[in-house]
Amino acid sequence: MTKIIRGFPLFTVGDLQFDSLDLKVAILSRGINVDEEIYSAFERNYRLSRHPRSCNTMLLNGEVSVSLARTDLATPFRLVVSDGRPVITHNGRFVTEIEFPRQTLFYEQKTSNGIPFGDLAVIQGWDMLAFACLWLCDIAQSGRPCGFCHTGQLSAPEHTVSDMIEIIRYAVENDPQTKILQMTAGSTFSPETEIDRYVEILKAIDRETGLSKVPTIIYLTPPSDMRRLDRLFDAGVDQIACDMDIWDEALFTKICPGKAQFTTRQRYLDALLYIAERFGRNRACCVFVAGLEPVESLIEGETFLAEHGIVPLPSPLMPFGISGKLLNETSAADIDYFRIVKRETAKLYNKHQLIVPGTYGSDVCLSRDIWLRREMLAN
Ligand code: SF4
Repeated sequence: MTKIIRGFPLFTVGDLQFDSLDLKVAILSRGINVDEEIYSAFERNYRLSRHPRSCNTMLLNGEVSVSLARTDLATPFRLVVSDGRPVITHNGRFVTEIEFPRQTLFYEQKTSNGIPFGDLAVIQGWDMLAFACLWLCDIAQSGRPCGFCHTGQLSAPEHTVSDMIEIIRYAVENDPQTKILQMTAGSTFSPETEIDRYVEILKAIDRETGLSKVPTIIYLTPPSDMRRLDRLFDAGVDQIACDMDIWDEALFTKICPGKAQFTTRQRYLDALLYIAERFGRNRACCVFVAGLEPVESLIEGETFLAEHGIVPLPSPLMPFGISGKLLNETSAADIDYFRIVKRETAKLYNKHQLIVPGTYGSDVCLSRDIWLRREMLAN
């Protein structure tokens, strides 16, 4: 399977013509019903699993990775087997055939302590190794989670740094030869301890595998003393993301009440600006959950950050499966919203020479997809 960035083939979805990124957003926003037959037909030869913590990826047009956002709720999208091939339908009508990434032996491995690799980390998109829930989120445990949260009640089983190193070494050097490492955990009430932990992990990776082999991004709770961030860069991290999620202050307070109360919006901003000023452009990143606020305020936030050399990472809201009252009040953004996000974000990446980390992109985020096509999208 070749991985090249092609143009924009169009798919017919209802009365509309979607390109690959439109279709990715539509599936992430609405979810997709998956026929059981898909698993029996493809799980033996492709990276596809029924395991609830697995991170299944579909490939659109052979290049755009999109999470197999499985839901049992009502959605117009369905993944079916048709003539022996996996096919997306919309209200029963053919949209496109998809592919799955090739099979990996990664999920068959266990660490020396007997922990299945897949209990600690997942292979995301084409080639990203992601430790997604290293520890529980204090904010979610406080009863004031972010309104769009999928992971606040999840954490990896107890493990050691050497368990992580075994996984990283296998994924980077053996199978599937991942090219970027992402580490995420729940927000903590003790960001200083969080930094200590990450410094220990970074040093161990560098000692055992070499950080130069695997560029690393950490999603971090910003500390009160910004100078503590220096320790992570001294230890070799490439990028740090402090996710504001929502630029509009009132909506941030409403939808992210725990972040607003315990960490504060200002501290996220201070950390991003500190990193950009001290370590330069493209070292600080910030996820925005696209679809939660008016597109004008989202672009305003992206523009402010981009002007300071901070990389905005728009990631579509995935509302299905979350029963929070706030999201019940939020209707899914339409495709025009995301077309504006794509175009304006591409312009910002071009104008401010920003680089989104990664290779072929995450299956739940749009940012690298936009970056790879920024010339076409900006025009
Ligand atoms: S910070 Fe918010 S989104 Fe992240 S795990 Fe905690 S509650 Fe969930």
